[in-house]
Amino acid sequence: MRRGVAVGRTLALMLALALIAGGAHAATLIHAGRLIDGVSPTASLNQTVVVDAGKITAIEPGFRAPAAGDRVIDLRNGTLLPGFIDSHVHLSDQQSRRTELERYTANEADRAIDAVVFANRTLLAGFTTVRDLGDGSGAVIALRNAITAGKVPGPRIVAAGKPIGSTGGHADPTNAYSRRIEPIDGIEDAVVDSPDAARKAVRQRYKEGANTIKIMASGGVLSNETHGLNPQMTEDEIRAVVETARDYGFKVAAHAHGAESIKRAVRAGVDSIEHGTFMDDECIKLMKQHGTFYVPTMSAGQWVFDKAQDPTFFPEIIRPKALQIGPQIKSTFAKAYKAGVKIMFGTDTGVSAHGDNAREFRLMVEGGMPAMEAIRDATSVPAKFLEIDDKTGSIAIGKLGELVGVPGDPLKDISVMEHVVFVMKDNTVYKAP
Ligand SMILES: [Zn+2]
Repeated sequence: MRRGVAVGRTLALMLALALIAGGAHAATLIHAGRLIDGVSPTASLNQTVVVDAGKITAIEPGFRAPAAGDRVIDLRNGTLLPGFIDSHVHLSDQQSRRTELERYTANEADRAIDAVVFANRTLLAGFTTVRDLGDGSGAVIALRNAITAGKVPGPRIVAAGKPIGSTGGHADPTNAYSRRIEPIDGIEDAVVDSPDAARKAVRQRYKEGANTIKIMASGGVLSNETHGLNPQMTEDEIRAVVETARDYGFKVAAHAHGAESIKRAVRAGVDSIEHGTFMDDECIKLMKQHGTFYVPTMSAGQWVFDKAQDPTFFPEIIRPKALQIGPQIKSTFAKAYKAGVKIMFGTDTGVSAHGDNAREFRLMVEGGMPAMEAIRDATSVPAKFLEIDDKTGSIAIGKLGELVGVPGDPLKDISVMEHVVFVMKDNTVYKAP
């Protein structure tokens, strides 16, 4: 307690000294050769964006000269964008050859420390907000709180906590366990097999401090189970999740690979379909009717397909699913985009490596989406979905200074999104050119 007071005083003194040294109104001036604001259909050239006390206070043509104490970021050869939003990550995990073993050896503390490292990588790659769609350890909710409190650097996190699924399904953490070590009470792990249990699982997420709900409507690639596509929740169970989620202001994201699982989830009212690998024309029609978002996660599809080329990388139960599902997502994306399904940028990073999130932009453009639209699907569109568009998602006066710089012009070469040179968040420049 006494020590806390002393630390508080020291911090206050340091802050006062910093203000005297830098001038009380020191601002950050970003000289941007090109500015993409996340909303407008075209970029504007040669702009100055001013960030003062964490907020955007001016956007003006030309390169404003700094006042005494102002910091200038020289991005005259690059492009300034709003901080990116990845709508599907797993910050407490990263797939590797050791994943199978770590199911038995890793503790929650290991996950928590990994998550701090991965969150920092994510931020430095230009992602200032992420939706974390599943973490069995509880580490991500703690990390979200620590980032919000300014204790560690990282993106703003919208956290789902434990994903909800059925016995033996994609979210059952004890699949393939020896019966000697399998725990008895599945509900603790969000394993549900009835609408009542589904309701309780949502309420449990609320109790634990989640911001959103994730369900496993179908089988999955990287779990110890035979089926990657089959439906694993009844429509009644999904509807119970959605109705209960609404009571608490939660949106619901549904992991779904197979067409039947997608249809059940959409009809039951989920807000987004994750992966959506085998969506057929009827799925597309239903998603358009219901306004359901599609989060393609092509990065994950690509990653599992690449790794499955090595027959020793995955356990034998996983490898055929990786070979089947991986390559399909890209053509599904192209089809869904053409048909006019609403899309949000999401990678499922934690499958692919943390910090590589921006590769998804290239996959989206290769799938037929114009670069400007891919950028909007990673900025203003998810900001609105996550109901944080008053703070972030576009470059506008009054919004937070959550800004990213890339070299060159992403509208000409989308791969520059993978070479972020400037990141600002929380009135702090984490990366400067
Ligand atoms: Zn995922």
